[in-house]
Amino acid sequence: MEKAVLITIGDEILSGNTVDTNSNFIAAELKNIGIKVTQIFTISDEINTIKNTLESALEIGDLIITTGGLGPTRDDKTKKAIAEFFNDDIALDDVTFNHLKNYMEKRGRLEILERNREQAFVPTKSTVFQNHYGTAPCMMMEQEGKLLFSLPGVPYEVKPLIKDQIIPYLQEKFKLNYISTRIVSVVGIPESILADTIEDWELALPENLALSYLPVGTRVKLRLTATGESEMALQQQLEEEIQKLLPLIKDHVIATSEDKIEKILGEILNEKKLTISTAESCTGGDLAKMITSNSGSSKYYLGGIIAYATEKKIEILKVKKETIDEFTVVSEQVAAEMAEGCQKLFKTNISLSTTGVAGPGKGEDGKKVGTVFYTIRIDDKVVTSKLYMPHLDRLDFMNFVSQKIIQDLV
Ligand code: ATP
Ligand code: MG
Repeated sequence: MEKAVLITIGDEILSGNTVDTNSNFIAAELKNIGIKVTQIFTISDEINTIKNTLESALEIGDLIITTGGLGPTRDDKTKKAIAEFFNDDIALDDVTFNHLKNYMEKRGRLEILERNREQAFVPTKSTVFQNHYGTAPCMMMEQEGKLLFSLPGVPYEVKPLIKDQIIPYLQEKFKLNYISTRIVSVVGIPESILADTIEDWELALPENLALSYLPVGTRVKLRLTATGESEMALQQQLEEEIQKLLPLIKDHVIATSEDKIEKILGEILNEKKLTISTAESCTGGDLAKMITSNSGSSKYYLGGIIAYATEKKIEILKVKKETIDEFTVVSEQVAAEMAEGCQKLFKTNISLSTTGVAGPGKGEDGKKVGTVFYTIRIDDKVVTSKLYMPHLDRLDFMNFVSQKIIQDLV
């Protein structure tokens, strides 16, 4: 019991209207209990396609999970396809019908339409997992030891069904353990010295915990993996071990989870009690958005200016007109002056600036598309860097530049 196949059903996904987030979520949850997803199919709401895919999936995997196509509308055909595939009939299930009635009454819908009643019809051989967040139940079929779970498509219905019902069911049935991980990111210490420093701690780790070293650029990620029956107990155990580890490498730790870079930035700024501001041109606010996407950012992020027009760089950020005339607006000098003006304006310890040509098309002053200068100013220390990425489209360019600046900073 290790291989799973996911089937995402829905024309809206194939047409590009909906991004398939269900597969991503389910695969990650299965991984936590040691089940590997080996294939993901995305298919249309079409009975024959669904049946053919079920056949292929059952050849490959021991566990099949489908999402989508269980709704009360005509375009949802998964249930019919499943019944046909397993040569089964669909019949009203009383328990499911009662659950549905309760569900709808609780939401003030006292009249049950035929269309709704149909949702309580399930294949007679199926085991039903009731949906507490929607009207389509989850159905499980079993064939020669292989399991098929069929779930509705709505992500907020999928998540609790998987997490609260299917994962515990699989764990119980197949005696599967949980796998839980924590990451500690460390900088400024070579891997070999790090290994020496934490050797005693590593050797004393309980048997169900394993440590691995993952070097990423100048950082080393220490990944601690725990295996056991209860997710809660594992998380507690990991936390305890990390608390023992931290004092050993205190000055080198930049994050104690696999957090996003903006969260790491927040932790550092908070700890050092530093404030930051931004002056953006070619990133159009993307940098500010990234910084403020971390909750609690108001403690250190004081504000930003998007000075897109050249006059505004002069007027608001006090970039000198002569500097622009001499070096052009996309230049190291202008980036530096933007950061200086921004730091004065917001009175922050740190200021960041960007000036570049995101494209497509040619920049006004002949600068090549994809060129950007960015400055990191900390007190009166100034570092300006240049990037050239003509291959990126506009939004990717902005995103890349913003990521890069924050990465340089941490
Ligand atoms: P319901 O019973 O709630 O109608 P359903 O099984 O009919 O559920 P769908 O009609 O296929 O589900 O999809 C319902 C909604 O969920 C749609 O808005 C769709 O965009 C979204 N959705 C469906 N599949 C996915 C997926 N794989 N990832 C993210 N969203 C999805
Ligand atoms: Mg649908």
